[in-house]
Amino acid sequence: MTRLLILALLIFLGYTLVSAVLRSLPGRRPQQPEKRTGKRSAHGEEMVKDPHCGTYVPRGEAIEGTKHGKRLYFCSRACRDAYRHGSS
Ligand SMILES: [Zn+2]
Repeated sequence: MTRLLILALLIFLGYTLVSAVLRSLPGRRPQQPEKRTGKRSAHGEEMVKDPHCGTYVPRGEAIEGTKHGKRLYFCSRACRDAYRHGSS
C-alpha cells in the first residue's frame, strides 16, 4: 500500500519535472501574436525571410502571400498586409 503511494508520488514528481524542463526549453514559445494558418512542420525545416521586417520564420509557420506573381512568406498577417499595401 505504502509502496504504491510512493510510486504514484514518484510518477507525479517525474511528470512535473519533465513538463517543467520542456516548458523551459528555448526556441518553442507557446504564445505567438498571430494564429498560424500553415501546416505544422517537423523540426529543422527551411527558414524563409519576411521581406517586410526581415525576420526569419519556419516555412510551415509563415504566412504566405504573393506580390507581382512572386511567392513570399511573412512572419505575421500584419507584415503581409503592410508589405502588400506599402508602396513599391
Ligand atoms: Zn514580419
